[in-house]
Amino acid sequence: DVVVKKPPTPSPLRNSKFFQSNLRILVTGGAGFIGSHLVDKLMENEKNEVIVVDNFFTGSKDNLKKWIGHPRFELIRHDITEPLLVEVDQIYHLACPASPIFYKHNPVKTIKTNVMGTMNMLGLAKRVGARILLTSTSEVYGDPLEHPQKEEYWGNVNPIGVRSCYDEGKRVAETLMFDYHRQHGLEIRIARIFNTYGPRMNIDDGRVVSNFIAQALRGESLTVQSPGTQTRSFCYVSDMVDGLIRLMEGDNTGPINIGNPGEFTMMELAEIVKELIEPSVSIEVVENTPDDPRQRKPDISKAKQLLGWEPKITLRQGLPLMEEDFRQRLGVHKKA
Ligand code: NAD
Ligand code: UDP
Ligand code: UDP
Repeated sequence: DVVVKKPPTPSPLRNSKFFQSNLRILVTGGAGFIGSHLVDKLMENEKNEVIVVDNFFTGSKDNLKKWIGHPRFELIRHDITEPLLVEVDQIYHLACPASPIFYKHNPVKTIKTNVMGTMNMLGLAKRVGARILLTSTSEVYGDPLEHPQKEEYWGNVNPIGVRSCYDEGKRVAETLMFDYHRQHGLEIRIARIFNTYGPRMNIDDGRVVSNFIAQALRGESLTVQSPGTQTRSFCYVSDMVDGLIRLMEGDNTGPINIGNPGEFTMMELAEIVKELIEPSVSIEVVENTPDDPRQRKPDISKAKQLLGWEPKITLRQGLPLMEEDFRQRLGVHKKA
């Protein structure tokens, strides 16, 4: 039988004057797309002090520029595959390259980040008695044989494919989280994030929403990867951040799906981007990459019931909210 131990005693540093009034929060991967939006939201609360740890592999200081120098904010350049000593109350553990182009670029590093990086963050959480939230992924369901995906589904994942460093990496990260929870009594939270989009997405990381918007703004044709009937469900980043904070603050370990159940084929997505951003561009069908999941849509009953959360922003509302950020970064100005 599994005995869940009591959480370890919090660090004595928490008795210091500082900790009586403030919550110190570590965000790994906080210079990335979702991480930097999470930091913005956490910094709105004056009781929060935020420490970001990032190696800037796919993230950028630019995403955090408004906080650099702020007295409640600290940015540390560090690779989480190495041990880290800080004193914190909560850990949002996001660090991991998330787009196929980047995670396949150095697959060994990707799996090290997921396994050694997560173990280090769990060791840290154990030492200081912090609650830790992992951003896992819908990719743990692989090419799913159940639709939509419920948290109980164990997935259909290729253990030796080119995506495995990421999806098997996250599966091990989830296992580590639950083993530290059962064996050492750690307070854990696991979010299974479905495709997320919004301002500050990497422009050239090959993800479909950023690709289509950049292509539309550059006047290039939108590249739908064959067959184009594959589906995804896209969540706007502010909804995602709200879901993550609710999960951290609530009483459920998860795993809990966080995503927008609105499901679109890639051809439909291309048509919507064309209509909303640049009607003059064409759409072309190009070759796909191996192991591309054919369909994906979250069942979010658990998030609704346990977190009182559901997304508010539809795809048609969210896409135009990215346009200005992409125009600025691409240097493409709106025609008069
Ligand atoms: P991102 O690439 O923008 O952010 C990841 C951040 O982690 C980057 O700033 C990167 O520099 C940092 N990082 C990577 N390896 C590191 C290491 N070894 N040490 C320290 N920092 C490191 O990606 P994102 O879209 O913001 O994703 C954030 C998290 O959400 C990831 O864990 C990802 O797996 C998960 N997720 C994202 C999506 C999505 O659609 N964006 C979907 C499912 C899951
Ligand atoms: N660790 C860390 N920061 C800490 C505490 C631990 O980075 O504040 C690392 C530690 O180096 C180890 C990992 O977390 O590699 C797992 O720690 P744990 O205490 O569970 O294991 P052990 O150190 O006993 O192997
Ligand atoms: N995709 C596409 N055109 C692109 C980039 C991606 O049609 O320019 C497709 C890709 O084949 C996949 C879907 O969009 O079916 C989502 O791909 P992405 O890399 O954004 O996310 P993930 O596969 O991780 O869900």
